[in-house]
Amino acid sequence: MTEGLLSAAYIIAAILFILSLGGLSNQESARRGNVYGMIGMLIAVAATVLSAQVSSYGVLSVAIVIGAIIGTVVAMKVEMTGMPQLIAMLHSFVGLAAMLVGFSSYLDPASHFDGVEKTIHNVEIYLGILIGAVTFTGSVIAFGKLQGIIGSKPLLLPARHWLNLTLGLVSIWLVFEFIHADSVASGMIPLVIMMIIALLFGIHMVMSIGGADMPVVVSMLNSYSGWAAVATGFMLSNDLLIITGALVGSSGAILSYIMCRAMNRSFISVIAGGFGTVAVSVTSGNEEVQGEVIRITAEETAQEFQDAKSVIIVPGYGMAVAQAQHLVSEITKKLRDKNITVRFGIHPVAGRLPGHMNVLLAEAKVPYDIVYEMDELNDDFPETDVVLVIGANDIVNPGAQDDPSSPIAGMPVLEVWKAKKVIVMKRSMAAGYAGVDNPLFYKENTGMLFGDAKESVETILANI
Ligand code: NDP
Repeated sequence: MTEGLLSAAYIIAAILFILSLGGLSNQESARRGNVYGMIGMLIAVAATVLSAQVSSYGVLSVAIVIGAIIGTVVAMKVEMTGMPQLIAMLHSFVGLAAMLVGFSSYLDPASHFDGVEKTIHNVEIYLGILIGAVTFTGSVIAFGKLQGIIGSKPLLLPARHWLNLTLGLVSIWLVFEFIHADSVASGMIPLVIMMIIALLFGIHMVMSIGGADMPVVVSMLNSYSGWAAVATGFMLSNDLLIITGALVGSSGAILSYIMCRAMNRSFISVIAGGFGTVAVSVTSGNEEVQGEVIRITAEETAQEFQDAKSVIIVPGYGMAVAQAQHLVSEITKKLRDKNITVRFGIHPVAGRLPGHMNVLLAEAKVPYDIVYEMDELNDDFPETDVVLVIGANDIVNPGAQDDPSSPIAGMPVLEVWKAKKVIVMKRSMAAGYAGVDNPLFYKENTGMLFGDAKESVETILANI
């Protein structure tokens, strides 16, 4: 493929990626956005494979076939609840790739640069490996936390901010050592030391973030993986990688900002690792019960619904686990047929992925115009007859407002307890992802409907 054709293919792919992001910003156009992205990626991969830089197809074909098989099997097998972990894993691959490309660029005897060009190339390599290493270990730890292999409590090392600062300063000093190294062998020493520091920094950064702040971490690592791709693009002089990486990096950064705002956290305090968690005690869901809980049956819940004029459904991670969205959609239809107003209240960090609940409700064909964001609904709870909290916990925890010592203190929540009746569906009294007890369960107007959400919803549906 000629240079001209390659550039044209890259420009078309870049435009498709931009259209894809535009499409993904809205539920109605999200499917189209995905299709644009897939076509763009197909063009990008095909053009790269056919470019003049590729000299041998043997190894490349084997790698593509193996990668395609693993990708297809994993994508077919993954449950919706496992998506965040899969995404964290994929981010770690981008980081790993940036590190490997960095070392291979540095060791490549064919890359001859002199003077300023050499310095620029070396800075690109240094940054690529630095960002790649932080992304790699950070994503692996995020995977562990999301999978539940690593506990969600923040690791708060003494003097951790000083530790971060020292690691940062050492990395800055090492870049000068690296640039001024007089041979490849002597340059490897600062490069490898920096890589080890960056790997440790990635682990420390995510370990010190508490469960409730994980949404910011997921979007932040998304952003880092984009910048790692940009660095790789610079090292390989590949314009499309630079553009694509910048799109991912900046959209991830915007998402991190949106997540921080949704959780009332400052971005710096989250990435610096648990600023603000210093004086906080993490209470566990297994703590002493704070009062009596009132149980309610699925049959009684069905009756509450039928006596109501207005209902708000608040879904959370448990709805995804139970895969109850289709039955919830059917209940919605039945209630609306009886002229009962039904709306959905979506917290920005509900579930385990940004937009998790919106995707599930869209899949179950819940009309978009009855799905509201938290800010649009929060004032309406006092006038609402029944709120059904289905598999949600942290996002409806009044402790975020009332208890300054709570790890989720200050996080805006759906004020469901202000409704006339709240019904909470979950299997036990266990805490949510942030590991904090929830006073909502002990309120007088709360009825606890214990059991798997799908089974409970089935019984409710049968009784309406
Ligand atoms: P939570 O994790 O707070 O609560 C989910 C609840 O669902 C649990 O208490 C659990 O209780 C219940 N549950 C689980 N399975 C079932 C089932 N089969 N049937 C019925 N109930 C079930 O989820 P929320 O959505 O309320 O809050 C999201 C949390 O995740 C926040 O802390 C957020 O910060 C964090 N997070 C969010 C991310 C995002 O991007 N959205 C990413 C990473 C973390 P029980 O076991 O008793 O059934």
